[in-house]
Amino acid sequence: MRKSLYAMKLEEIMETLKLEKKYQARIVRDNLVKGVTEFSKMTSLSKKDRERLAYDAMTSSVIEHQESASTVKLAIRLSDGMVIECVRLSDGKDRYTACLSSQVGCAMGCAFCKTGTMGLRRNLEPGEIIEQFVHLEKLGERISHVVFMGMGEPLNNFTSVMEAIHSLHDPEQFNISYRKITISTSGFVPGINKLTELELPIKLAVSLVTADDDKRNRIMRINRTYPLSELKKALISFQRHENKRITLEYCMLKDYNTGKEDAEKLRKFMSGMDALVNLIPWNPVEGMTFKSPDENEIKAFSNELKRLNINYSIRREKGRDISGACGQLASKIE
Ligand code: SF4
Repeated sequence: MRKSLYAMKLEEIMETLKLEKKYQARIVRDNLVKGVTEFSKMTSLSKKDRERLAYDAMTSSVIEHQESASTVKLAIRLSDGMVIECVRLSDGKDRYTACLSSQVGCAMGCAFCKTGTMGLRRNLEPGEIIEQFVHLEKLGERISHVVFMGMGEPLNNFTSVMEAIHSLHDPEQFNISYRKITISTSGFVPGINKLTELELPIKLAVSLVTADDDKRNRIMRINRTYPLSELKKALISFQRHENKRITLEYCMLKDYNTGKEDAEKLRKFMSGMDALVNLIPWNPVEGMTFKSPDENEIKAFSNELKRLNINYSIRREKGRDISGACGQLASKIE
C-alpha cells in the first residue's frame, strides 16, 4: 500500500521520494497543497526528478461523484481498494465546508446511522484524510471550513485525525484556522479529555440524540460505557479550557426523543454548559425502522426548547437526495 505524501514532514517526503535537498521536498509539498499531484507537472522540480517520478502522487481516486443543489458527495477508492465517502457542503453563498471521514466504517454501531452498520474496517491514515480535502478542493472552490462528521468516530482515530488537522492548519500548507475545524464525536469521553489537554481552539460537536440514559443506551452503545454524567463532565472541562460553545447534535427520531420530557432532560443536561442544540430531523436510511418527524413534531419540540430558553437551530437536510446527509454515509459501492 503506497503511503500518501500529504501530512508528511519535509524530511519524510525527502526520504520517500529519495530527494537530496529539503527545498525539493518543499517544492513537492507546495504543489501538492495547490492540488498539483502529478510530478511531471511540478515544473520547479528538475527534469531528472520529473522523469524519475512519472506518476500521480495521490494514493486515492474518485470513483463516483453525486451532486445536489448545495452538496457534492464523492466516493473515494483508497489504495487498498476500500471505499470511503466525503462531502462538500455549500451555504449557497461563498462558504464551502468539507465533511471528512476518519475511518472506513465505524465501531460505534449507533442504531440510526448507516456507517454504523458497516462495523470498523480500519482507521484512515492522516494523508488519506487530507486527500479527501484535496479531492473536494479539486471541484473548483476554495474550502474554508472542515468538519469531521463523515464516516467513523474521529476521536477513535485520534493521532491520525490530529496529524491531519495540524497539516490543514499549518500556514505553509492549507492554512485553515483551528476555529474553522469541528470534530464531531458520539461521546467518546477519553478522546474528549485528550482533546481538552491539547488546548487547541478546535470546535467540538457531540452527537447527543437524547439526554435520557435509558434511551441513549438503546440506540448508542457508547453510552453504556460513558453515560451522560461522564460525558457532561468531559464537556464542561473542555469548555473550561477552550471557552467555546459546544454543539449538541440532536438527531430527531419520530416519537422517540421529541417529547416534552425529552426537552426537560435536555435542559438539565445543558445546565452549566454553553451549548447550542442543532436539531437534525433524521435522514432516512434504507432498512432502518426509525422514521423522520413530521413538521408538526419538529415545531412542537422546537417550541418546547424555546419555552425552556434552550438555544437551538434546525439543520435542514442538505444532500439527503444523494445520501450525503448526516448518518447516511456508507460505502455501498464497495
Ligand atoms: S453516528 Fe458516528 S459514531 Fe455513530 S456509528 Fe455513525 S459514524 Fe459511528
